[in-house]
Amino acid sequence: MSQDTRSLRRRNIIGGADASGDAWTPNVNPSDTSDVIGEYARGSASDAQEAVAAARASLPRWAFATPQERADVLDRAGDEIVRRADELGDLLAREEGKTLPEARGEVVRAGQILKFHGGQALRNTGEVVDSIRPGVEVAVTREPLGVVSVITPWNFPIAIPAWKIAPALAYGNTVIFKPAELVPGCAWELVDVLRRAGLPDGVLNLVMGSGRDVGPVLTGSPEVDGISFTGSVATGEQILAESAPQRTRLQLEMGGKNPLVVLDDADLGVAVEVALQGAFGSTGQRCTASSRLVVTRGIHDRFVAALTEQMLQWRVDDARTDGTHMGPVVDAAQLAQDERYLAIARDEGGQLIGGDRVERSASGHYLSPALVVGTDNSMTVNREEVFGPVASVVEVADYEEALAVANATEFGLCSGIVTTSLAAASHFRRHSLAGMVMVNVPTAGVDYHVPFGGRRASSYGPREQGTYAKEFYTLVKTSYTAPGAP
Ligand code: ADP
Repeated sequence: MSQDTRSLRRRNIIGGADASGDAWTPNVNPSDTSDVIGEYARGSASDAQEAVAAARASLPRWAFATPQERADVLDRAGDEIVRRADELGDLLAREEGKTLPEARGEVVRAGQILKFHGGQALRNTGEVVDSIRPGVEVAVTREPLGVVSVITPWNFPIAIPAWKIAPALAYGNTVIFKPAELVPGCAWELVDVLRRAGLPDGVLNLVMGSGRDVGPVLTGSPEVDGISFTGSVATGEQILAESAPQRTRLQLEMGGKNPLVVLDDADLGVAVEVALQGAFGSTGQRCTASSRLVVTRGIHDRFVAALTEQMLQWRVDDARTDGTHMGPVVDAAQLAQDERYLAIARDEGGQLIGGDRVERSASGHYLSPALVVGTDNSMTVNREEVFGPVASVVEVADYEEALAVANATEFGLCSGIVTTSLAAASHFRRHSLAGMVMVNVPTAGVDYHVPFGGRRASSYGPREQGTYAKEFYTLVKTSYTAPGAP
């Protein structure tokens, strides 16, 4: 960044203006904890209330804005984000810890998402239906849901906010955006870009701060019509319980325990690459990560040997250093959680390959990729989401057992299979109990113009992304019109 980041301070943005406040959270680089990116406002419950009021006050203006105005704002903002991909990618890698290529890719995707939904603003079509009554016209139209709270996690600091905020704005909603405390930098930039792109004051409000302080207002206020949340199962379930009395519309994306099935007939090179990227890309900190590798007996030993060889060659280092394959874990608490799960896996009988603390010249939260072999599906590491560079291997006899193990989880976000058998691939696509199924591609890594979401404990409410986003962000109205005079 061009600015002197030692003195960088960013305030909340409420009603189009910088909010007052004197509580700050340092934004610390997980690759080098002596590097503080800046200080970001720690908002209070009253900031959240002000933001809800600002969003409510600006709703009529934005709900009745022309589709052209909404499209232009999103398109301009998308262009700026793509143009600044190097700079914003550097900020993202610095505050979250994914590698520069991964971070830059995420920024470009955020820009593309804004531009896609800019187009969608112009395609908010309805239907005219023949009435069963003579002389009556029936129209089915979509209107904005209203005031929406957008609550996001730290693992995709710009893409997840973009894929919630862009459709919200495209369909005429106003927003209170609460990013995760660990990654306020990209969140602030995204809101700043959108406000400079011409968003009227109060349409998008930024409330940085802790979930405990500002969350209850954003999820419990009767002035909030919808909540789009991505984060942990525990928080998602709490939001579900607390928002029920207000009948708030919900969209919750929570955990995953995604299986990747590898069959005997798989190409070994493809299987290893798909597993490596799916399990350890972005330090494994993705809800779509392949955390359970379900491998049939005939390829198991060769697969484990080849994956181990590749994995041990991965360079774990500063996210912004050339040649780094995997950046640090996001913070000390997440690192402790990863190591706790590795210890439990060992205690329950798994054999651990990798998973070592790594020392680098700067003090960061470095852990090498970890593979736990010799596990069965009932072990803790195969039931609970770790959210780190940890994958386990379950050996199975054949495809039927692989499918049963893949589906034996409370989650259902994503699943994958590596095979050269068309019969197995198409059977798996139909019988996997996941919202997204990948054949010969990593479980993590999705397109932005198609629906994203899972089943069972992974997701609740309508799908995110693509054209399906409108199911959450709009209300359907059916109008009947008769001539009124003979
Ligand atoms: P993660 O493991 O990704 O940090 P969390 O569920 O803790 O998952 O956090 C996801 C988002 O939810 C963050 O922005 C966090 O601040 C927010 N959050 C945490 N607790 C609450 C709450 N009680 N109400 C609303 N939001 C919350």
